[in-house]
Amino acid sequence: MKIEKFPSPSMNQNCFILTDNNESVIIDPGQENKVLLDRIKELNVKYILLTHGHYDHIGALAAAKKLSGAKVCVHALDADKLSDVSKCMADAFGINKIEKIEPDIILNDNDELTFGSKTIKILHTPGHSAGSVSYVIDNHIFTGDTLFCLTYGRYDFFDGDVRALVASIDRLMEYPDEYVVHPGHNIDTTIGAERSRNRYTRLKRII
Ligand SMILES: [Zn+2]
Ligand SMILES: [Zn+2]
Repeated sequence: MKIEKFPSPSMNQNCFILTDNNESVIIDPGQENKVLLDRIKELNVKYILLTHGHYDHIGALAAAKKLSGAKVCVHALDADKLSDVSKCMADAFGINKIEKIEPDIILNDNDELTFGSKTIKILHTPGHSAGSVSYVIDNHIFTGDTLFCLTYGRYDFFDGDVRALVASIDRLMEYPDEYVVHPGHNIDTTIGAERSRNRYTRLKRII
């Protein structure tokens, strides 16, 4: 499986494209930019997988769907963010109008999807938002804004929940040390590295 990372030009957000056997999936097309859209045009994209519905992760969703014809997948509890400018918090980024997108596939915990020869396992990892998910493919975990290198996502938005966030990260920590974590912002890490040093262990002690 090939993993390509496309950091957004001005939001420090990571979009990923995974390809296996000439079939691709896009994770979190956050911001329109030529490099990303040109790459999408070259690929046979089966799914656009969203880790959650915040604007910095869906800013290029309409364009990516139009270009690829791929099915948009989002957890049930974040689905309505895709058509609501305030629920997706576009307004926080100075955007007051978004192109409404109807999801094609509503995800739930432990669902599985396939592309190429790969299976994608969906883990519902709420806390940053109610419908946040992580995607596990081989020994790679795409954690969105749930788990970052050294730290964790904000839990103070309208449908955030600190206890749910800690429980979600506990669940991710059940994976083996060598699993690679690809967060929605900043650099990649591993489960082993985060188990010993991630600041969520401190958060856990105070909640
Ligand atoms: Zn977010
Ligand atoms: Zn984000």
